[in-house]
Amino acid sequence: MKALVIGSGVAGLATSIRLATQGYAVEVYEANSYPGGKLTVFEQDGFRFDAGPSLFTLPHLVDELFALAGENPRDHFNYQRSEVACHYFFEDGVDLMAWSDPAKFAQEVEEKVGVPAATIKEFFQHSQYIYDTTTPVFLERSLHRFSSYLHRDVIKGIARIFSLDLFTTMDKSNRKRLKEPHLVQLFNRFATYNGSNPFRAPGVLNTIPHLEHHLGTWFPEGGMHAITQSLYALAQRLGVRFHFNQKVTQILTSDQKVLGIEVGGKQVASSLVVSNMDIVPTYRQLMPTQPAPEKTLQQERSSSAIIFYWGIQHQFSELQLHNIFFSADYQEEFRQMFEDKTVGDDPTVYIHVSSRMQPEDAPEGCDNWFVMVNAPSDQGQDWDALIPRVRQNVLRKLSRLLKTDIEPLIKTESLLEPRLIRSKTSSFGGALYGSASNDRMAAFLRHANFSGRLSGLYFCGGSVHPGGGIPLCLLSARIVSDLVQSDLPQPQTLAS
Ligand SMILES: Cc1cc2nc3c(=O)[nH]c(=O)nc-3n(C[C@H](O)[C@H](O)[C@H](O)COP(=O)(O)OP(=O)(O)OC[C@H]3O[C@@H](n4cnc5c(N)ncnc54)[C@H](O)[C@@H]3O)c2cc1C
Repeated sequence: MKALVIGSGVAGLATSIRLATQGYAVEVYEANSYPGGKLTVFEQDGFRFDAGPSLFTLPHLVDELFALAGENPRDHFNYQRSEVACHYFFEDGVDLMAWSDPAKFAQEVEEKVGVPAATIKEFFQHSQYIYDTTTPVFLERSLHRFSSYLHRDVIKGIARIFSLDLFTTMDKSNRKRLKEPHLVQLFNRFATYNGSNPFRAPGVLNTIPHLEHHLGTWFPEGGMHAITQSLYALAQRLGVRFHFNQKVTQILTSDQKVLGIEVGGKQVASSLVVSNMDIVPTYRQLMPTQPAPEKTLQQERSSSAIIFYWGIQHQFSELQLHNIFFSADYQEEFRQMFEDKTVGDDPTVYIHVSSRMQPEDAPEGCDNWFVMVNAPSDQGQDWDALIPRVRQNVLRKLSRLLKTDIEPLIKTESLLEPRLIRSKTSSFGGALYGSASNDRMAAFLRHANFSGRLSGLYFCGGSVHPGGGIPLCLLSARIVSDLVQSDLPQPQTLAS
């Protein structure tokens, strides 16, 4: 029995692996010449850059794909825990080292900004409570199937709904719990993990610090791209066939079922199709005659980003693997991004330096900087005017805070921006994480992992339930394979 997957982003790869282990003959059609979508890499003048994601959490979700295939993940994919989750720099000169050990971090906070360690401990306990309560409800199963609501964990989660800060914003919740402005800004930052605005997003997103500070941030051996490489190799070992440079142009349907896809002017038949393409172009381009769920497709998009990849002819010892240089006025920064749809003159700057963990990523004495500024999704802004201005503001800010003129140190440079993200991955508006979570109903408004009208059609990836980011994309693949297993007659599994 054949299954067709449109796209080989991390969710498409994971779905292909899962369906192959269920016994399907899986064919993946990918518009690019390479797998991985946003999770890709490039080399330039002796520097290696992970082009997209830089932060890796919940690595067991990758491991479980190897286990499912009867393999030991350690034979193919390895990673180590980062001792420092992030080094934070504030405009007033304060800096905070976010040790991944919560007790050490609490001590740092007490010493540097005078907040008692007990306050941080309590905050993390709350974060863990939200995580434990919401994960089985919002992340691990379809929110769009009645049977999900009969599960014990879901019933428990719903009963606790008023204790999850769903009805207040992240910022208000953080002000109430933490009070101290540096800490409030630091924890508000976690809204950007799914491209949202902490001044609008619900406080339930305060689950995210639990990931970083308790469950850990990790660095894959070989860099982030090792996730793509190892999953692609696993899929191939399972017999998945990949067709690169093959852009799917149509999902074929008849009555209420899917019949296959059209690609390169040819039709490929299958009664099971999974789209890893962003849900908006999946409807608009691949099935324009099907009724589209307009309310879902018109949800506000998550943020996008402008990324400068800089090969730096110097090593800055104060920089860790992940670093943040905060803006002076965070609220204004998000207002400009989500209301004015622009990037202000004092953006928060994130720098990822993989050569800190893996020195071979940069020539001797150099750093490979991935410098990212959050930006609105593409809505026709004048990016050609905006990007050089952002670049100058970033250089000015970093030169001031690192007390070194940065521009002369840039040995090589490359750029990624919302229009390029869109053209390279078909993400609507070049958004990094599909739709934003600025609305408390966002989880329910995200598209389901299946089509309600066409049997045999499923959706995975960052633009559908449960959302964007590598871990959630991997969970979307798990949900899709569970749904396929319960909805359709099954082929013989590998195990049998
Ligand atoms: C700069 C940047 C930084 C990020 N940082 C992080 C981070 O630190 N941590 C984290 O967890 N996440 C991060 N993310 C988000 C993360 O990368 C995404 O959520 C995730 O990789 C999306 O995977 P996906 O499977 O949804 O598909 P994508 O990666 O979007 O891939 C979709 C694939 O489908 C293909 N495709 C589309 N249309 C067609 C078609 N018609 N026919 C054939 N193929 C098609 C595309 O070519 C592409 O390969 C970041 C993203 C970016 C861009």
